[in-house]
Amino acid sequence: MKQANNRKKPEWLKIALPAGKNAASVLGIIRANNLHTICTSGRCPNQGECWGRGTATFMIGGDTCTRACRFCNVKHGRPEPLDPSEPERVARSAREMNLKHVVLTSVDRDDLPDLGAAHWANVIREVKKENPAATMEALVPDFQGRKELLQAVIEEAPDVISHNLETVRRLSREIRGGKATWETSLSVLRQVAASGLVPKTGIMVGLGETRQEVLETITEARAAGCRVITIGQYLQPSARNVAVKEYIPPATFEEYRLAALAAGYRHVESSPLARSSYHAEKHAR
Ligand code: SF4
Repeated sequence: MKQANNRKKPEWLKIALPAGKNAASVLGIIRANNLHTICTSGRCPNQGECWGRGTATFMIGGDTCTRACRFCNVKHGRPEPLDPSEPERVARSAREMNLKHVVLTSVDRDDLPDLGAAHWANVIREVKKENPAATMEALVPDFQGRKELLQAVIEEAPDVISHNLETVRRLSREIRGGKATWETSLSVLRQVAASGLVPKTGIMVGLGETRQEVLETITEARAAGCRVITIGQYLQPSARNVAVKEYIPPATFEEYRLAALAAGYRHVESSPLARSSYHAEKHAR
């Protein structure tokens, strides 16, 4: 299948999106509760496997982001006000889907005085109340580096708090835009590490980075206290997003996986189809 940037996809990236009863029932619950999931909006190749394993990723804070990262397909612009019923809707859906592991992520809400931190805490608290047996990961925004806002999420004690560096230091500004900075993201990971919760990060490759830069990123994130890292192939979601520069072969992902394990990470997901929530239930153990 030709990519928007006319780069032919290699065999190892050819996948079939999920079908069958389980996928349909999960989709039904998501739609019935008017929820946003990165699984569907990101056309994630691992939907079937994750849903089958009792893991799903909910996007909170609405469907419109105040930022415009060049790799992301989420709508950008002026968001609607937060929906106070969202915590209850997410919690109920997780229960109806019988999820064993809940991943929460959000659009950035730079438009709100607390950047959405209180809403984050409410959703975590409600999901935990309705799903006491489930583990949870919070894939948080950078809260513009404001420690008191991240602390509000830390105090709800999700098992894992992740924040994605997304790419290597040199490409950070070009790929993520000006609002997100490398240093701010590292400070988020350091604060999580200091809290005793499990810090996790993720990057995409195939955006023009060098092998050496990826190895340096693995080391730098580990030095910031990260214990889990995901490394996956960037895939261009639409023609308006940045183009794929390179399809990284599986052997290189294996090299990155071994380098990350040698650096002391507890969990490493490094493969062409790895995404930040891939096998996430393992990272909470
Ligand atoms: S902040 Fe997150 S949701 Fe917003 S554009 Fe960037 S990646 Fe997408």
